[in-house]
Amino acid sequence: MENTYEVGTDIVSWCTKCKLMLDHTISALVDALPKKVKCKTCNGHHNYREKEPEKKTPGTRKTKKSEYQILMAKVDEGGLSGAKKYSIKGNFKANQMIEHATFGIGFISSVINRSKVEVIFENGTKRMVQNR
Ligand SMILES: [Zn+2]
Repeated sequence: MENTYEVGTDIVSWCTKCKLMLDHTISALVDALPKKVKCKTCNGHHNYREKEPEKKTPGTRKTKKSEYQILMAKVDEGGLSGAKKYSIKGNFKANQMIEHATFGIGFISSVINRSKVEVIFENGTKRMVQNR
């Protein structure tokens, strides 16, 4: 059976104001298809929309957490009390948390050698000296 539309009859349309699929009344036809509808809920006049429009949701795209944020989340569980003040004379171990005067809280991601460590800071990974 073919659908025939008539002005004044009911149709379910996407309401651009209520943002819901709702009962509407057809108020104008174009080529025998509903063109304009009137919302029974808000009385708004708008174009007929058969379906809910595709959502443009750039906001829902998950932002990838940085390595620093992941580490920070782990640390939050245990608190920041374990941070050791950074000094070039210090001797650091992997996974140790340090506090740097300029870069802030950092994590020793690896010990490169006796005199160098790799540290993850909020602004990126830096190589720092140790055991000077
Ligand atoms: Zn409405």
